[in-house]
Amino acid sequence: MIPYGKQEISEADLDSVMSVLKSEYLTQGPIVQKFEKAVSDYCGSKYAVATNSATSALHVACLALGVGQGDIVWTSPVSFVASANCALYCGATIDFVDIDSSTFCMSVDALQDKLECAEKSGMLPKVVIPVHLAGHVCDMKSIRLLSLKYGFKIIEDASHAIGAIYDGLKVGSCFYSEVTVFSFHPVKIITTGEGGMALTNSQEVATIMGRLRSHGITRNLNEMERVPDGLWYYEQLDLGFNYRMSDIHAALGLSQLSQLDSFLEKRHKVANKYEEIIPHGLVKKQSQDPLSISSYHLYILRMKDVLKRNSAFERMRNAGILVNVHYIPIYRQPYYSRFCFDISNFPESENYYREAISIPIYPSLTYDQQLYIVETLFAENGFQNLF
Ligand SMILES: *Cc1c(COP(=O)(O)O)cnc(C)c1O
Repeated sequence: MIPYGKQEISEADLDSVMSVLKSEYLTQGPIVQKFEKAVSDYCGSKYAVATNSATSALHVACLALGVGQGDIVWTSPVSFVASANCALYCGATIDFVDIDSSTFCMSVDALQDKLECAEKSGMLPKVVIPVHLAGHVCDMKSIRLLSLKYGFKIIEDASHAIGAIYDGLKVGSCFYSEVTVFSFHPVKIITTGEGGMALTNSQEVATIMGRLRSHGITRNLNEMERVPDGLWYYEQLDLGFNYRMSDIHAALGLSQLSQLDSFLEKRHKVANKYEEIIPHGLVKKQSQDPLSISSYHLYILRMKDVLKRNSAFERMRNAGILVNVHYIPIYRQPYYSRFCFDISNFPESENYYREAISIPIYPSLTYDQQLYIVETLFAENGFQNLF
C-alpha cells in the first residue's frame, strides 16, 4: 500500500515525547510555550498560539477578529470543511469564492468581482480565508490590496503550508494577513498527532486567541476587570473553550520542527521527479504563483475528464496506491445544502472536482514507487513498462 501522505517519526521524536512523559507537566506547559516560540521564530511572526487542532485555531482566529452573528466570511470551496465551519461556529454566514483554473487556489478575479457586487448590496465580508492548497501559496499581494480597499481581514488557512515561502517570506510571517493557521495532523507537513497553531503580529489578537483556547480565563493582572480576591484568583472574561495543546503533543511538534527543512527538501525532490516523469500532455498539473515556493503537502493533477479521472482512480486504488480527491467542494456537502448555494457560481470548482486526483507525496516516497505510480496512472495510455 502506498498512502497519499504519511508522517515520518524519528527516534528523536520518540525521545522528545518520552522526556515529557517523565516530567511533571503533561498538559499545556513550558514545552507548548517553547514550541510556539520555535514556530513563530521559524516563520517570522511576533506571536503564536498553539491549539489542539487547526480547526480550533481557525475558530479562535475568527472570534478574535470579531466574527459573530450577522457577519460574513468567505473562503475557497476547494478545501477541507473546517475552512468554512469555523465561520458557522461563530454564528456568521459563509460564502465561497471560485477557484483559479490553474492554481486551484482562490481566484483573485473572482474575489474582485464578488467584492464589487457585495459592496453594492452591502454584503461585504468581515473576513476572507484564502487556503494555500497543497502548500502552493495564494496570490497574497493581490488579496491584501483588496482587503485594504474593501476593509476585510485575512486569515490564511495554511494547514498545508508550513515551510512554504511567498516573496522571500515564510508563510506564517503574517505580512499579508491578520492571522495564519497551521495544522499538525499526521498527513500534514509536520505533526503533533493532533494539533494546530494560529500566528499573528497583533498582540491584542494573540491575547484573545490565547484566552479563548482556555475557557476565556486569564491569570494576567493586566487583563483583569476586578481587584484579585487573593493568590488563587482568576477571571473568565470570554466564553472560551478547552482547545489547549498538551506538552506531550508539543514535544513531538518541537522535534518534528527541527526536521521540517529536511522534510521539505525531500518533498521537493519527489515533486521534481514527478515533474520529470509525468507526461504533461496528458494531465494538467497545479501551477504556482510566481512568488510562491510550495511546501508540497499534496501533489494534485487534473485528468482530461471525469471518466478518465474515475478510471484512473479505480486503477490506482486496485494497485494499492491510495490516491485521493482534495477536495469535494464544500458547498456540495449535505450539511451545506441548507444554505442553498447556487453551484453555477462556482464553475471552476466544479470542473476541478470532475478532474482532480492527488497522487502520493511524502518524504520517504522512493523513486521506484514514483515510477510505479506514474506507470499505473497512465496505464490506459500504454505507459506500462515505459520505465
Ligand atoms: C487539515 C486541514 C484543516 C483542519 O486541520 P485539523 O488540524 O485536522 O483541525 C483545515 N483546513 C485545511 C485546508 C486542512 O487541510
